[in-house]
Formats: sequence, structure tokens, C-alpha cells
Amino acid sequence: MTIRLKLTLLFTALFASLLLVFATAIYFSNAKDREESYYNRLRQQAVTKADLLLGAKVQPSVLQLIYKNSLNSLPQEEVAVYDTSFNLLYHDAVYIDRVKETRGMIDSIVRLKEMHIFVRDLQAIGFLYHFGGKDYVVTSAARDIDGLAKLQDLRIALMVGFCGAILLTFLAGYFFSRQALQPVSQIVDKVEEITASHLDLRIDEGRGKDEIAELAITFNRMLDRLENSFEAQRQFVSNISHELRTPLATIIGELEIAAKKGRTLREYEELTQLILQDARRLVKLSNGLLDLAKASYDKAEIAFKEVRLDELLLDTRAALLKANSGYGVNIIFEREIEEDDFISVRGNEYLLKVAFTNLIDNGCKFSDDQQSTVAISFHAKNVILRFSDTGIGISPEDIANIYTPFYRGANKKYAEGHGIGLSLTGKIIHLHQGSLSVSSRVNEGTTFTVELPHL
Ligand code: ADP
Repeated sequence: MTIRLKLTLLFTALFASLLLVFATAIYFSNAKDREESYYNRLRQQAVTKADLLLGAKVQPSVLQLIYKNSLNSLPQEEVAVYDTSFNLLYHDAVYIDRVKETRGMIDSIVRLKEMHIFVRDLQAIGFLYHFGGKDYVVTSAARDIDGLAKLQDLRIALMVGFCGAILLTFLAGYFFSRQALQPVSQIVDKVEEITASHLDLRIDEGRGKDEIAELAITFNRMLDRLENSFEAQRQFVSNISHELRTPLATIIGELEIAAKKGRTLREYEELTQLILQDARRLVKLSNGLLDLAKASYDKAEIAFKEVRLDELLLDTRAALLKANSGYGVNIIFEREIEEDDFISVRGNEYLLKVAFTNLIDNGCKFSDDQQSTVAISFHAKNVILRFSDTGIGISPEDIANIYTPFYRGANKKYAEGHGIGLSLTGKIIHLHQGSLSVSSRVNEGTTFTVELPHL
């Protein structure tokens, strides 16, 4: 069932219930009023007759004659007067005696003083009438033809009105809910047009400030994010393929040369060395990509434990010096460490080592003297690590982009790389709730500052 139909039916049902309660109240209040006023009329007629009979001593036969010829009397009226011992003193029309008074009935009237009953379609009243020091029981019954007909008319009018009002409400509800839900239908039509290849399309946000406008704005924001991440993904894949293509093309070229006959052993050795170098670069790149994927994981998926950063830095230095004999890494403690906790963090040892390796490696490879310094300090909450070098520095234009995956600065010719080291480092530090900042001057040097919350 559509929301539109659901809304309309709900609205109609609500209105119908209210109207039903209202109509029922009107009908029953009218019915009660009619009943009461008719009992009053019956009582008046009966009192008049009882007065004529008992007070004016009009003969019952005369009274009956008056009754027969009276135009004012109520339809099928029957007035009877008894004494309290159930002796009939007067009865209007003996031939239409439809209310059969019984001894029990008379006794009840004497006890209750007044009784209202319905005898088939007749409305009857019986009451105790005190006259001339004696009690009499007077009964009066008749059919309220006019009142009942009016009540029936009211019933029909209410029923017709009820059905008409419900029909109108349903139609109006259906129409207005269509109007109200029109923007939703437009959104649905537009959304159907949006596919992965048309992520630039947007929903009309209108000028309203209602929930639907809010939905459209939220949806558009989500599309912005999706488009950006699709674009970033596309860019990432094309960068990877580009980075992989270059060394692969070199390897193929070198192998083609090797495949040609007539090479000396020395030439083969040189070619093998070149191929090995390219293959190592490929391994380094794929390792970097793998680390990048790991650092992009959900934090919950990575094992965290207590790590002493000075020890980790010493390990990192040892590994780097082993792989690059020309490098020099100087680790200095700016403050005396009174407690282990001040330089210990909760982190992933492997990922932190990757981050520090990148920073130290960059410092060495972008400096003539291949020297890099790591200064360790701490304050109340954080451990502070400064990775500095006196190398070629980064231009202000490049600083804004160095954390973008695959971005290499204008100084890239100075050293080899793939441009994923810093984006990976940034992700790792972020994953550890830390911060990474850089200050650099061209031809003077660069300092990367890492702050990590200590234990
Ligand atoms: P890669 O080192 O592989 O080029 P990175 O992501 O580690 O990639 O660094 C991105 C860029 O930032 C480098 O290409 C370089 O231009 C610049 N850069 C990073 N560290 C330094 C540094 N210590 N000195 C000079 N330039 C740096």
C-alpha cells in the first residue's frame, strides 16, 4: 500500500470516528429529549383527564365522548384512572386497550410514585395522583408519531451526512496527500536517474525548510561524499596502475634486451642487477600499498598494545641504517625520562614503525648529508617527536599536498619514491589519535612533529 493511500485512509478513519461519535451523541441526545418531552405531554393529558373525572365529576361516558371527538388528543392515546386497590375508575377507549394494567403494575406505581415504560411501540407513563385527600393511579400511553418520524428523519440525515462527509474527506485527503507527497515522487524520479556514472546529478532542494527539503539536502550531501570518494578511488587506482606500469615497463625493456643473443656475461650481470633493482622497487611499492590498506582499517580491527617509543625509534634506526649504509640518524632526548609511561603509548608497533621509518627515511633521502635527527620530548598528555633534517626543504605550494596519496613534490627528482609514505604516516598517526605537522624552509631543512597521547 502506498504512503499516500495509507495517509488518506488513516486521516479518513480518524475523521470518521470523530464524526461517528459526534453524530451518535446528537442522535441520542435528541432521542432522549423527545422521550422526556413526550412523557411530559402524556402526564399533562392524564392530569387534565383525572381532574375532569375526579374534580369536575364529569361522567366517564362523557369523558369518553369528548375523547372520541377530540382533535387534540394524542394518537392512540389511552388514559386510565384506578384507585390504589386496582379498581378501574375510567378508561379512554376500551376498544383500543393495548396497555394491559395488572395488579403488580399498579402496586409498583404506588411504590415508586412514577413509572415509565414502553409497551411495544407505545410510550407509557404511570404515576400516583393525589386528589381530595386520596391517592389514585393514573396511566397514560400513546405513540409519538411525529416525534419518532422526526427522529427517523434525523437518523437518515445523519447517516447520509456521515457517508457524504467520509467520501469527501477521502477524496480531499487523497488529493492533498498527493500534493504533499509530490516532492517525494520528484525525488524518487530523480534518484532513479542517478547511477555510478551520473553521480554529478543532484536533487532539487527547493526553497522550503520542511522535512522533505531537509531530506533532499541530506541526500545531496551524501551524493557529494559519494562522488568525492568515487573520484578519490578512481584517482587512487589510476595512480597505482601508473606506478606499477613504470617499473614493469622497465623490467620488460631490460628483459627484451637480455633476450637478444650475443650479450657478454658482464652485460647479463648488469641487466640482472637493473631488473633486481626494479623488482625491489615494486616490492617496496606493494608493501607501501598494503600498509596503506592496513592503516585505513577500522581501529577495532588493529591490535593495540603498550609501546615504548624510544625503543621503537632505536629499532627503526637500526633497520634503516642496515638497509642504507650512507644514512645517519641521531636520536636525542630533550628531557630526562623519569617514568616509562611518559614515552609509552597504546599503539600498533608495526604501523608506528612504518610511520617513523617514512619520516626518518624522507629526512635522510632529501638531504645532501643524509642525516636526520629525532628529538624526543613529552608534556602532560603527549609524547612529542620531532623528525628534522637540514636538507632541501619543501616549497610552500607543495606543503598543502604532501599528505595526498601518490603526491610527490617539486623536489621529487632529488630522491626516489612513490608518494605514499606521508599519506600513510598521516593515517597511522590519526589512527593513534595523534597529530602530525610540518614546518619547512627551502634549502634549509624540514621538521615533522608527531604528537601522540602517552599512557
Ligand atoms: P616520497 O617520499 O615517496 O616522494 P612521501 O609521501 O613520503 O613520498 O612524501 C611526499 C613528498 O613530500 C615528497 O615527494 C617530497 O616532495 C616531500 N617531502 C617529504 N618529506 C620531505 C623532507 N624531509 N624534505 C623534503 N621534502 C620532503
